[in-house]
Amino acid sequence: MSLRGIIIAVVVLLVPATAQIDDATRKLSRDIFKQLIEINTTDSSGDNTAAARAMAKRLLDAGFPESDVKVLVPAGRANKGNLVARLHGAGTLKPILMIGHLDVVEALRADWTTDPFQFVEKDGFFYGRGTQDMKSQDAMMVTTLIRFKKEGYRPSRDLVLALTSDEEGGTANGVDWLLKNHRDLIDAEFVLNADSGGVMTDKGKPVDVEVAAAEKLYADFQLTVTNPGGHSSIPVPDNAIYHLADALGRLEHSPFPFELNGVTRAYFERLATHETAQNAADMKAILRNPPDQAAIARLSADAHFNSLLHTTCVPTRLNAGHANNALPQTAQALVNCRILPGHSAEEVRGELIGKLADAKVSVRYEDGSSGKVLDRAPNEAGALPGAPRADVLKPLERVADSLWPGAPVVVDMETGASDSKYTIAAGMPSFGIGEEAIDHDDIRAHGKDERLRVSSYYEGVDFFYRYLKAITK
Ligand SMILES: [Zn+2]
Repeated sequence: MSLRGIIIAVVVLLVPATAQIDDATRKLSRDIFKQLIEINTTDSSGDNTAAARAMAKRLLDAGFPESDVKVLVPAGRANKGNLVARLHGAGTLKPILMIGHLDVVEALRADWTTDPFQFVEKDGFFYGRGTQDMKSQDAMMVTTLIRFKKEGYRPSRDLVLALTSDEEGGTANGVDWLLKNHRDLIDAEFVLNADSGGVMTDKGKPVDVEVAAAEKLYADFQLTVTNPGGHSSIPVPDNAIYHLADALGRLEHSPFPFELNGVTRAYFERLATHETAQNAADMKAILRNPPDQAAIARLSADAHFNSLLHTTCVPTRLNAGHANNALPQTAQALVNCRILPGHSAEEVRGELIGKLADAKVSVRYEDGSSGKVLDRAPNEAGALPGAPRADVLKPLERVADSLWPGAPVVVDMETGASDSKYTIAAGMPSFGIGEEAIDHDDIRAHGKDERLRVSSYYEGVDFFYRYLKAITK
């Protein structure tokens, strides 16, 4: 190689990777993104069905047959439609399901600098409700399917896309409804959820590429103590508030047991290689058999580590009494639990009863989707994740390294909850792979002036194309 050749090679290596997409793809992906942002899909006044239909039309126009593009609307919920589309593959392996929600959190024009339902490009950013969460990824996935169709690309297995309603709230969750009513259409070996995971950047520079490979289970419990009450001038020891307060005090001092699974074990193994000395030693010590109890206690002082290592249950609401001068007849608390994979809400309800240790405190399950309070909680446990799947992660590492060089892929467990909670409960391993780059101090999902860097958007368009191709070659 000539000196000039070497210089060019070095310069090329130093130029940060940017999206390798042509102008037509750039325009197509931008048009789809704009169209989605400008269809209001809030629970209060939006129309999810309109967004689902708009995306269906795009796929039909690109050559998908009508039999493979369905807009499915729950009875009596005209605005809560969902899209399911399928690109047929060549092989006999079970399909891959990709999910994304079309609905967005409410946004008030008065709070925003721009109109949240207008797609605005300024200062190198796209503004609008859903630019981060998650019409961007929806548009990336639709763009990718259209590109695949136009190329005549035949994946090794079916790729199914479900764009759904009511992830952010509301009572018509599309993933839940599709699983209950159209399981055959979305059944898959595993699920790629574009709503979690992500590329963390610092002033645009990639720090890490996050993949959520497990998720905790969400459960609300209503604790109630009832009592005949009476006049507060002649108090008796049997008091509903004391019963409840004492029981909550016992809960506070009785954490759920330490437990690792395939994903958290791999996460701490990896983190131990670049943590501070004490943290690194503690992480290695909790991976041993038996784990070191002092190390567990030290790591659990960190709220995030604590939530990775334990099921957590914490009171979030309290309500008691009916008059200043009367003994309380009712005392109630809401306890919110985030349950480790492998355990059911009913199992945790039983453990709560044991920890509260007072037969006067009833523990009932509050079902978020129906609003009903039930005597028993669901018995289904979130599937226990194994070590992260190589067929999902190896291609992701390769593609991520070309787009965000130097940023390690970090596989972790989501401590919050996304629609993966439904697919995991239905027995489909689910991975959060919504890889779009957002600065750690510019997370505006659910907030005002939500925005996404223009370059991050096109990188994401490139990522989804390359990654979905890499796992279906
Ligand atoms: Zn979301």
